[in-house]
Amino acid sequence: MATRKEEMAGEGYFGNYGGRFVPPPLEKPLQELTTAYENLRGETTFQRELAHHMKHFVGRPSPLYFAEKLSEYAGGARIFLKREDLNHTGSHKINNALGQALLARELGKKRLIAETGAGQHGVATATVASFFDLECTIFMGAEDIQRQEMNVFRMELLGAEVIPVETGTRTLKDAVDAALETYAGDYDRSFYLLGSAVGPHPYPTMVRDFQSIIGQEAREQIIKRTGGLPAYLVACVGGGSNAIGLFHPFLEDREVEIIGVEPAGSGLDSNRHAASISRGSPGIIHGFKCYTLQDEQGEPLPVHSIAPGLDYPGVGPEHSYLKDTGRISYESITDREALDIFHLLSKKEGIIPALESAHAVALALKLAPGLPPEKNIIVNLSGRGDKDVAQVARYQSQGLFS
Ligand SMILES: *Cc1c(COP(=O)(O)O)cnc(C)c1O
Repeated sequence: MATRKEEMAGEGYFGNYGGRFVPPPLEKPLQELTTAYENLRGETTFQRELAHHMKHFVGRPSPLYFAEKLSEYAGGARIFLKREDLNHTGSHKINNALGQALLARELGKKRLIAETGAGQHGVATATVASFFDLECTIFMGAEDIQRQEMNVFRMELLGAEVIPVETGTRTLKDAVDAALETYAGDYDRSFYLLGSAVGPHPYPTMVRDFQSIIGQEAREQIIKRTGGLPAYLVACVGGGSNAIGLFHPFLEDREVEIIGVEPAGSGLDSNRHAASISRGSPGIIHGFKCYTLQDEQGEPLPVHSIAPGLDYPGVGPEHSYLKDTGRISYESITDREALDIFHLLSKKEGIIPALESAHAVALALKLAPGLPPEKNIIVNLSGRGDKDVAQVARYQSQGLFS
């Protein structure tokens, strides 16, 4: 594993992945951000204030819950759920949004800028902007705005301005371009808040740091509960932030096996998936190098997943590196399998999971029967499923996946 010093000195390289591939106007603000973050993160006052808000605003620590009925149903190993779904706003995204917003405030910025696809990251950003009394501008593709009315209304309730992007396919990629352009023109007073462990340096390192609280807590909780380390860790991988947050504090524990779960959509051979590691190749996307699903010209391919937070054609650079070193194995789960687990977990445990998280639970359910009962699996339940209920109801009424 690269040490932190090497990571920072190498401009954010994890092996051959990561880096910073951005147009000149973004180079200076990102360099300044890197220096500012490295200085602030070492300050006790910063860490103390972050810990305070994590506790009182987010509601941390999130429980590590023994899913007894699910484990019985699977037979074999015991399954524990790290309940990130119980955080304020319903997922792990708030951990990172809060950290970056506190950083923005410390740097004297007045406005948060972000883009959003399905709206989850936009809502988390609007929430922390309101909390720290910062202005908030969210860029969203006009097409996505139509599909995600409720999240648009949520962001507006929280005081954010949602700007429809009418260029290109009017979806996430176009929103990224518009948000970056606005940021480049206003970085003296604005902060660009990125939602996953992706993008140009320093974002993958910074986002991982803010999300590592998941693994730090889980490590303490499982030792206290069972007297030892878990046999397995499992988390879903979109950009990779909830996964690296759980995994990172365990990377040196060689006896812990780690599995990242990618979205196989309609199947890995269908061309309707978003399994960037399983089916992609190294390339550059959105300012960094990683495994990516790309065409012969290196352009990102269209991707699909039933889970809106997983349909991204790239993956974090640290995951790309950990795949090559073999420390983490990456598997995949289809839409169909995730949807089945969405129903199963709701009925068995009284927990409606996010469709993203259902991918991780589904993998654990395949794994558990082959293991003895004294082995423990920790699954990151990255979010709650309330956001997905209307969509799942629509699938049912249309007879899809029935
Ligand atoms: C956004 C999201 C994800 C995927 O993002 P990562 O950066 O891969 O964690 C997973 N689960 C939920 C609930 C999300 O909202």
